[in-house]
Amino acid sequence: SDTVRLLSSSQVITSVVNVVKELLENSLDAGASSIDIKLENYGLDRIEVRDNGHGIKAADTPVMAVRHFTSKICSHEDLECLETYGFRGEALGSICAVAEVAVTTKTEEDEISTHYSLNVTGNIVSQKPSYLGQGTTVSVLKLFKNLPVRRQYYSSTKKCKEELKKVQDLLMAYAIIKPELRITLVHNKVVVWQKAKVADHRSALLATMGSSTVAKLLPCHHHQEQPKLLLDGFFPKPRADFSSTSSSSPDKTFIFINSRPVYHKDIMKLLRQHYSAQYPDDPGRNRYPTLMLKITLSPSAVDVNLTPDKTQVLLHNKEAVLTAVEALLVSLYGSDPT
Ligand code: ADP
Ligand code: MG
Repeated sequence: SDTVRLLSSSQVITSVVNVVKELLENSLDAGASSIDIKLENYGLDRIEVRDNGHGIKAADTPVMAVRHFTSKICSHEDLECLETYGFRGEALGSICAVAEVAVTTKTEEDEISTHYSLNVTGNIVSQKPSYLGQGTTVSVLKLFKNLPVRRQYYSSTKKCKEELKKVQDLLMAYAIIKPELRITLVHNKVVVWQKAKVADHRSALLATMGSSTVAKLLPCHHHQEQPKLLLDGFFPKPRADFSSTSSSSPDKTFIFINSRPVYHKDIMKLLRQHYSAQYPDDPGRNRYPTLMLKITLSPSAVDVNLTPDKTQVLLHNKEAVLTAVEALLVSLYGSDPT
């Protein structure tokens, strides 16, 4: 029923930043190298994500926003080596249940693009030719129009500004892990943030964090077999040659597992422990190091099915990962602080 759909959708789609994340990940899954995000009224009136990816085949469009349709898994073996951000076929359909959605798309084979208006159940209600280039543009109007309590959350300008900041932090994470990506964020026609295509993670960090921060970071690397594990990072230089590279919130500690920005409590704790130990005379201070840590391991060793937003993951061999991160930290900062 409509109520059931609304309830389950509102669990998948919880906020403006959540919508941006789902649309952005769809664009990345479509192989986009350029993504433009436009918000109006902090995303409450309009969220638009335009990409230059492979587009949606005409045959797939009738079901693209029908919940649990996904073009991304074909077999069980595929699930074992999941490389796309999306795999549940939940996002687009769920957004349709809580907003007005339109999709314009063009594949390489199509002569022109087609604009589709979708209804609350994710079905196409009308379509017309349009004149955009290859790729897909999804626009989401009047988010949470049918969820007054959710909308109420954004009634203060303070909350709205926090949300815009969260959108920017999210985009920064993807910008760092995808150096080749060109990305812009526009709010009420003003460019809030942008990043050009760059060659590597270091340049991506420079473009997002600025040169004074990156000057305090050291590239580091660790790899092992059994279990196969690859760590690449940019960590704060040891105390001797830096002034603090930390913030009071965790939003500049960028951790990625198989290219997914994640929040992992135990890894975060380990990073903070070693980092804070650099300040023995100031033990009470709550420091979140500014750093990037990229963990690559077998996709079958990670379970991303824990939370709808996929930012929390389950590592099947957590101890091995923590041991490897610890080894990297010890090689940089010396022995375990505890
Ligand atoms: P999932 O990403 O889990 O497959 P979604 O609901 O996010 O599910 O998207 C449904 C489907 O719509 C995708 O599998 C894909 O085929 C198509 N799609 C959505 N957005 C795009 C996009 N920007 N470019 C190409 N295809 C897209
Ligand atoms: Mg998706």
